[in-house]
Amino acid sequence: MLASRPSKAKSGADVRLVDSHSHFDAPEFDPDLDAAHARALAAGVDVQIVPAVGVAGWPKLKAVCARFPGLHAAYGLHPMYLAEHRPEHLRELHGWIERERPVAVGECGLDFFVDGLDADAQRMYFDGQLRLAREFDLPVIVHARRAVDAVIAAIRAVGGLRGVVHSFSGSAEHAAQLHKLGFLLGIGGPVTYERANRLRGIVATLPLEQLLLETDSPDQPGAAHRGERNEPAYLTEVLDVVARLRDMPREALAATTTENAQRLFDLARR
Ligand code: ZN
Repeated sequence: MLASRPSKAKSGADVRLVDSHSHFDAPEFDPDLDAAHARALAAGVDVQIVPAVGVAGWPKLKAVCARFPGLHAAYGLHPMYLAEHRPEHLRELHGWIERERPVAVGECGLDFFVDGLDADAQRMYFDGQLRLAREFDLPVIVHARRAVDAVIAAIRAVGGLRGVVHSFSGSAEHAAQLHKLGFLLGIGGPVTYERANRLRGIVATLPLEQLLLETDSPDQPGAAHRGERNEPAYLTEVLDVVARLRDMPREALAATTTENAQRLFDLARR
């Protein structure tokens, strides 16, 4: 992990980007992991934050991040994989964080959109992970679907936290509350769809320091890759749309969002 210092793009790409949320360890990338990584570098995406979904996947996640400089793991228990989690996994997570020193805790959070995910159990795991983030003074990578109010309440209740709400889908008021709480917003594929009026309005006016770019690969492809597997190289589509919405040069937006990611995840020390 210490060897994975972010380096200058090796590609001649005109921007240098951090994909702040990529599941690059997902099985969808098994057939062409090296090629997908090369395409990311060619696009200027030389750093990826790779969050976990559950205990069973942590060793592979660690291996994938060790294989490529610039990939940084986060360890956690994702709410959509609730059926796989056990209370003792929180203790295991404590051990992994202590040993592996990841850049963040996550992916964790609340999902009230998917049917059949017990809300109380989700809250228990989320709260446990927020407490671990505070204990280890790490940022937290949060999943919030139809649950932004509940996520804000949980973050407030624990206190002393910082992090990112990834694939943000809340209101302008939610965005402002999260800003006050020290949380950035991850913006990805959904903003590239012209009908995403509310999200586009929020992205156009957010404080720049609150903005992170992400792909959520292999999920949530942008409009240009609708129906395909998403991949980190496609982050430039998000960059271009957000730059247009904010009426600023893409190079300036790339530089600022990269700095935001470096600051949140303390990448200078990696
Ligand atoms: Zn995710």
